[in-house]
Amino acid sequence: MRFSLPPASVNLRLLIDVYPNTAAERDRWILSHRPARNMVDPRRPFAFKLEEERTETGEIVPVATIFLANRECPWRCLMCDLWRNTLTDPVPIGAIPAQIDSALSELHARGCESTADTTAVSGAHRFQYSGRGLRSAATPSRQVKLYNSGSFFDPRAIPLEDYAAIAERVRAFSRVIVECHPALVGGRCLRFRDLLAAGEQHHSSQPKLEVAMGLETAHPGVLEKLNKRMTLDDFQRAADYLRKNDIALRVFILVKPPFLAEGEALEWAHRSIDFAFDCGATVASLIPTRIGNGALEALAARGEFSPPKLASLETALDYGIGLRRGRVFADWWDLQQFSECSACFEARRRRLQEMNLNQVAMPAVDCDRCQSHGGRRHPV
Ligand code: SF4
Ligand SMILES: [Zn+2]
Repeated sequence: MRFSLPPASVNLRLLIDVYPNTAAERDRWILSHRPARNMVDPRRPFAFKLEEERTETGEIVPVATIFLANRECPWRCLMCDLWRNTLTDPVPIGAIPAQIDSALSELHARGCESTADTTAVSGAHRFQYSGRGLRSAATPSRQVKLYNSGSFFDPRAIPLEDYAAIAERVRAFSRVIVECHPALVGGRCLRFRDLLAAGEQHHSSQPKLEVAMGLETAHPGVLEKLNKRMTLDDFQRAADYLRKNDIALRVFILVKPPFLAEGEALEWAHRSIDFAFDCGATVASLIPTRIGNGALEALAARGEFSPPKLASLETALDYGIGLRRGRVFADWWDLQQFSECSACFEARRRRLQEMNLNQVAMPAVDCDRCQSHGGRRHPV
């Protein structure tokens, strides 16, 4: 019998390419595996889209999501690929309000007429509508997400001098959602919250500020290895601060982070949803861990990471919605990469979308070809 061994150079590379134990070494290791950064224009948001989302009160409303171009986040999280659409230098004062103006005017002009999933690209500018079709050209976005591939309250990403101009532009929305690392949750959140409320007399109701924080996982050992430089206590403290200051909390949770097998990853996804609601979250957003930042490919080569199966995402969503403690959404961007069966994929994607919107369990999709039973099957 003949065995074919991988070339010695491959074995050697895997031997020396061990994921390090200290944070500083991890930073270097993660950076060393990065592919190239995309070209990003500081005068334009790098993307924006209209989508529909269920509110706390059960309405389904249009949401404008603007992906702001700004300086890269200072952390080096193992699973992060958001840096690919960031800049290495801070943006000038005025650039972020200008990006918001540009996205909102284009969304208004183009998005309100969309009736199906569409994506349009113009130069570095990407527009996407995702949803079931807005009902009329006059349908306004009710909520806005200002996502900046990092922390909104990082002053080197979003200049403090721009807070008032940003607040002025989004004050008419009922909810303003930004993202932030727990370490940067503090006085700047209150300053922005107060600026949103400052124009209250001109609008029928005060916009609610919501901060989205990445818990990633409630597994303490895996969280430490993700290199987010945050503990569960840090997360809880930031969540408490938001709650005491009347700021809503949205929590991002990774479905199957590195270092966990499919079954235990699902168990920890459930525990992470529990932890998010224990911290006062109004939304838990489930993100299947995606390959593509270089570091995860290196871990995959060592057998320390593989993307989740679609069934894991389905089961985690079933679990979270079943708790009835708050809204739970499954992220379905580029979902097909998690599917192993083209026969049932579309039906399963539609089921996730409908469950996101309606927040009620739906029958699992049966499939003769893959013998999957959707979220009911234990995804081992
Ligand atoms: S804190 Fe968020 S944006 Fe920054 S590196 Fe980590 S995951 Fe990426
Ligand atoms: Zn199938």
